[in-house]
Formats: sequence, C-alpha cells, structure tokens
Amino acid sequence: MSVSVSIRDLSKRYGTNTALSGINLDIEAGQVFGILGPNGSGKTTILRIICSILSQTSGKVSVLGYDTSLSRNDVKKRIGYVPETPLLYESLTPSEYFSFVASVRKMDQRTLADRVNNFAEAFGIDGFVNDLIGSLSFGTKQKVAIIGALLHDPDIIVLDEGMNGLDPRSAKILKDLLVDLAARGKTVIFSTHILEVAESVCDRIAILYQGTIVSVGTMKELRESSGNSETNLEDIFLKLTGNENIQEIVSSLKESLRR
Ligand code: ADP
Repeated sequence: MSVSVSIRDLSKRYGTNTALSGINLDIEAGQVFGILGPNGSGKTTILRIICSILSQTSGKVSVLGYDTSLSRNDVKKRIGYVPETPLLYESLTPSEYFSFVASVRKMDQRTLADRVNNFAEAFGIDGFVNDLIGSLSFGTKQKVAIIGALLHDPDIIVLDEGMNGLDPRSAKILKDLLVDLAARGKTVIFSTHILEVAESVCDRIAILYQGTIVSVGTMKELRESSGNSETNLEDIFLKLTGNENIQEIVSSLKESLRR
C-alpha cells in the first residue's frame, strides 16, 4: 500500500511550550493507525496539523501528496475530521447540519439522503434528526459529528477520541466501519485512551510521550521492541510513558484513605 500521510521533522511550539518535536512518521493507505499518549502528549496537535487546521512551527507534512501548509483546501477536501470536542451548530437540527455539510462537500441530494438514512439508522439517531442539536445528549452530538465527517466518503478519516460518549453498540459499529473503510483503501487515523480499542482495531500504533514518538509499529513490533513478546498494550504504554509505579501509587492512596 502507498504512504498517504508523511511527516518529516515535525515540530510545534505554542509560544515557549514545545508540543511536538522531531516527529517522523509514515501512515499507509489501507490501514487503521492509532495515536496513543497521556494527556498533553501532543495527540490533538498532530491530528490538527495533519488536517491542515493548525500550522506547524517546522517540518513538512504531506497528505496524499499535498503539502498541508501550502495546499490546505486540497487536504481538507479529502479528510473527514471528528474533533475531540465537536463544535456543532446548536440551533440547527442534525438534518439541517448534514445538508450544510453536503453543500460544502458538493454532494448531490440523493446520495445525501441515502447516506443520512443509513448512518442515522445504524447509529440509532433516526428519531433525533429533526431535533435541535443543542437539545441532544453528548453521545448523540458525537454521533452527529461522526456522521458529518463520514458523509462525503473521505479518503482519510481522522478521529480525535472518536469513541468518546458512544454506547457499546455504536462504538462497535464505528470500529467495524473504520476497519472496513481501511480495507477499502482509506486511511483511518485516530487517537484514543481506550487501549483495548487500539489493540483490537489498529494495524499500526504510535505512542507519543511529551511531544515525541517513543514507539511505533504493529502490536507485534511494539511487543518485540518492549523486549517481552507476551506483554499487552497497557503494559507497553505504561512503561513507555513513565508510569510503571502504578501499584505504589494505588497503595499510597489506600494508605491515605485508611488514615
Ligand atoms: P493531547 O491531545 O495529547 O492531550 P495536545 O496536543 O492537546 O495533547 O497538547 C500538547 C501540548 O500542547 C500540551 O502541553 C498542551 O498544554 C499544549 N497546547 C495545546 N494547545 C495549546 C494552545 N492552543 N496554546 C498553548 N498550548 C497548547
């Protein structure tokens, strides 16, 4: 498969705060790629740079051959992005929001209607499509954002904590859909805190820690580089992100509760 996202020597500073440094990464079409890391490790920053929403401080990022700093519109056309906290128009209904997305994405009405029906039914929101978005629950808003990002059948799908707020059935549908989209040659990139999701769905995983990639590869490669072929992603993650002393922390919490 071909490389669809290529990142070279990427760094990003917010003022004096370095969010990313020395990132080199190739993400292939036809794969589900997971980005893991503790809070503040740079996951959202890297995803927003890939989507051409945020500019890097230095380095080069190409998406399907387009430079994200020079060809923003070409990049945005090909990406469906679900931000960590989707900003939806509270005073529109999901139905109106999807029509708005379709007009921006230049979709025809029939394709729009077909897809909205299928997605709304699959995610169980068909009873809410004419309610105001502002009146919907967090999980339903998340589903609206996911559907809005997938409606135009983008080549690259980027989800920042996309499973947040989803009930188990919808999470399973989304996971299976992402795997299926990758099998059709799309590139799926997502960040998650749910390590079981990453382990079960991702072809490759990068672990970020304090703005650098501390490990990248398939689960097998991550296990090999951790020196333990039996280990699970949670242990690898905790070891690489400086959290091996969890037992001590829990013991000290238990102690302090007994005092
Ligand atoms: P993650 O998604 O892994 O939680 P982020 O990419 O949101 O990490 O943040 C990486 C680092 O950049 C953190 O130290 C965070 O505080 C900082 N950061 C993120 N956004 C901004 C911003 N708009 N201004 C200043 N610092 C920011």
